[in-house]
Amino acid sequence: MPELPEVEVSRLGLLPYLPGQRVVGAIVRTPKLRHDVPCGLADRLCGLRVDAILRRGKYLLFDCESTGSGGWLILHLGMSGSLRLMAPDTPPQKHDHFDLVFAHTALRFRDPRRFGTLLWHEGADAGQHPLLAVLGVEPLDEGFGGDWLYDATRRRSGPVKPLLMDSHLVVGIGNIYASESLFRSRISPLRAANRISRERYRALVSAIRETLAASIAAGGSSVRDYVHSDGGAGCFQLSCAVYDRTGEACHRCGKPIYMIRQAGRSTFYCPSCQR
Ligand SMILES: [Zn+2]
Repeated sequence: MPELPEVEVSRLGLLPYLPGQRVVGAIVRTPKLRHDVPCGLADRLCGLRVDAILRRGKYLLFDCESTGSGGWLILHLGMSGSLRLMAPDTPPQKHDHFDLVFAHTALRFRDPRRFGTLLWHEGADAGQHPLLAVLGVEPLDEGFGGDWLYDATRRRSGPVKPLLMDSHLVVGIGNIYASESLFRSRISPLRAANRISRERYRALVSAIRETLAASIAAGGSSVRDYVHSDGGAGCFQLSCAVYDRTGEACHRCGKPIYMIRQAGRSTFYCPSCQR
């Protein structure tokens, strides 16, 4: 599943090509993805200029003259979505659901499992869209820090790991990044969120930022016309210390890595290093 770093890499991959270009056409081949694709989306987009591409959580936000008469194209890659830039006359393949066509290139959205999302938001502030308004802070923004996370968790007595993955609190910390960051900061995924010190939360936030940034940097160097590859369930361009390493030796202490279930998801950790 594309995680925050992959979405950010897709965004960075599109930035040299799309902003400043005007949409000359849009083709909706599949009217129903996770949500219904809005009726008349293609007509609405036609003629608008893409002014910027932003990201909120795992949503890509295409600013289509939103400060004028336009709005925002909101795109989520879902479980298996990917974006590619190609010549506009390239024949579509199965699962190619949407094209955004420019004078010399087309942005094509492919999504075999159809859990992706394609929406339109009228007006200047995409953050008011109901899907975006409920999202928590961005993990790479200044506002997300150890002190903030400490304060936000004083009344949360559940285990810390599912809380890290709660997008109402903080967005885009997927399963891999939650497990890896907790290992790096030596915090047990089972520890109650309100029983973790301010200092340890500072270490955890540093670990989250480093893990995400390393993944973005690794992915960003390989992006050209192939904007995003759905690389399967493994770590994205990242060598994992605990994720998917059940029974293998911990790099730090040599004891075996454990897998447990938390809130329906697999958690990987080292019980002797993480307290
Ligand atoms: Zn260990």
